Amino acid sequence: MAKSVTLPGGERVPALGQGTWFMGEQARRKADEVAALRAGIDLGLTLIDTAEMYGDGGAEMVVGEAVKGRRDAVFLVSKVYPHNASRAGVVAACERSLKRLATDRIDLYLLHWPGSHPLAETVAGFEALQAAGKIRHYGVSNFDADDMAALFAAGGGACAADQVLYNPARRGPEFDLFPLLGRHGIPIMAYSPIEQARLPRGGALGAVAKKHGVDPFQVALAWVMRRPDVIAIPKASRIAHVEANAAARDLALDADDLAAIDADFPPPRRKGALEML
Ligand code: NAP
Repeated sequence: MAKSVTLPGGERVPALGQGTWFMGEQARRKADEVAALRAGIDLGLTLIDTAEMYGDGGAEMVVGEAVKGRRDAVFLVSKVYPHNASRAGVVAACERSLKRLATDRIDLYLLHWPGSHPLAETVAGFEALQAAGKIRHYGVSNFDADDMAALFAAGGGACAADQVLYNPARRGPEFDLFPLLGRHGIPIMAYSPIEQARLPRGGALGAVAKKHGVDPFQVALAWVMRRPDVIAIPKASRIAHVEANAAARDLALDADDLAAIDADFPPPRRKGALEML
């Protein structure tokens, strides 16, 4: 496997996967989306992130089609809406996701963001799904350090990942969330790793890209993946973008590159609220 990240139980997953937000929204784009995901799987981007929210279930159906015939080669991540995260609600939502994904199991099932159902209930639902073999691991998304503390207090110590907004322009979680997750051996999934294609193409990202003969967004992805505990999940529905993203795994940033990026995008010096997209 190319560069990988280790889950708490020791299983290794690719450090670069594929996102699916905004997929499955328009029937006429479905074939291109399936083709892009399949091209990504061919290139080793075998971790695929989706959610019941995306395209109202449409993205899970795109993923189901993309992994048809090669399910065992893929690590599937999906997410439950917070309003579905009661004990029974989690189980029912997962069953619906499994149908749309046309599979018998989800590899990692996340609570999409903190909600109002007691976390102990959500964890109990996740554990019931694990016992039934319907999910292999569970985790959370958009959980800040205090949310993680509440999760641990609710019995969620087996959490296998926290998926948060992270890219050069969104370094807040480096302050206390990443150290906390590190102490528990919980990896980070970095969403919107190129800020939905809105990262500046000039400045340090542009200069480092020019030096290496690559694209500034490839620099951003390599920067996100510089940490051994971070999985980047860029979304690309164009095959050219999938190929460019896959090639970012071959880019090694040196100390000068990292210093230049730090100068443009300084690491956080104080605690701020966790940002969400
Ligand atoms: P992103 O991956 O930062 O950016 C996606 C956008 O960038 C798309 O418009 C894509 O275009 C474009 N793109 C991709 N690769 C490119 C390249 N090499 N060069 C130029 N443009 C490129 O943003 P995201 O979709 O928000 O985040 C990634 C994934 O994280 C999501 O799809 C979703 O799975 C997950 N996510 C999770 C949460 C959460 O709350 N847990 C929130 C947001 C996102 P094309 O599609 O046209 O190729």
